[in-house]
Amino acid sequence: MKLIAPEYYTKFHCIADKCRHSCCVGWEIAIDPDKLVYYRSIEGEFGARLQKGIAEADDAAQFILDEEERCPFLNRTGLCDMIMALGEDALCQICRDHPRFRNFYADRTEIGLGLCCEAAGELILSQQEKLTLITLEDDGAADLPDIADESLLAWREELFALAQDRDKPIELRAAEILQTAGRTLSQHSWAEWAEIYLELERLEPSWADRLLELKETDLTGISLPDAMAWEPALEQLLVYFLYRQTPLALDDGEYEGRAAFAVLSFAMIRRLLLVHFALHGSVVLADLIEIARQYSAEIEYSDENVEILLYRIQEAL
Ligand code: SF4
Repeated sequence: MKLIAPEYYTKFHCIADKCRHSCCVGWEIAIDPDKLVYYRSIEGEFGARLQKGIAEADDAAQFILDEEERCPFLNRTGLCDMIMALGEDALCQICRDHPRFRNFYADRTEIGLGLCCEAAGELILSQQEKLTLITLEDDGAADLPDIADESLLAWREELFALAQDRDKPIELRAAEILQTAGRTLSQHSWAEWAEIYLELERLEPSWADRLLELKETDLTGISLPDAMAWEPALEQLLVYFLYRQTPLALDDGEYEGRAAFAVLSFAMIRRLLLVHFALHGSVVLADLIEIARQYSAEIEYSDENVEILLYRIQEAL
């Protein structure tokens, strides 16, 4: 079995106490069964604190977040008391993994970093080179490729080629991906898309504010300043969604829909960036990283939200 990743993957580091949107705040933190047994075995003062911080119901366990929705082990300096008391190996699977995601194939696993993490977003969106996938691990096993996997990966290569065709502006590349997928997004105006996103479940109130701004801001004649300088970051954004989202079609069969969802996600974030520029008069890469972080957390990490958007894309057929 091989483990494949984007080349930038190994450069990722969690910025811990410097993170402004820690994944230890506002998210449910499920505890895997092995770690639960381990946590229950810890004695002494820290063991007592651990027992108090865990809730179990219906065979599932999670940490009990405080009134500010913070993990009970995230201290006020932004560091993890669990790591300080028991070491990094004590972390449950979800804490060790985040912000990594994995997609599985018969002969390989692909791993990546989610844009919901600001450190990952900065790393991904500041890449200048086209995406290169590398083999991180190979146990030498002669796993046979699956025919459906092979054809998905070949199709995704075609989509990558369209997304990374630097002779064309990024909007045209995105439009060509939609055309290849036989899908359109023009069944709704941007104000209507904003309305659709407003109907989805939400984490942060400021996400609704952004969507309302999108709904209400007239962007006629507005374009990003120094548009060419934005092309590499916007290309990374589009390629990220293709890399992460299209393989999920192997589970739900939404091959064209997933490609269109990648374009919709790219286009929504680009549009929100334009709104930011229209309202504030300036825009920098940090704004794109923040909008992408919020989008990823609000949409990509909710299966229900993604399903609704896939349905809305499908509606136009
Ligand atoms: S969101 Fe990213 S940078 Fe922030 S604490 Fe989590 S893993 Fe670290």
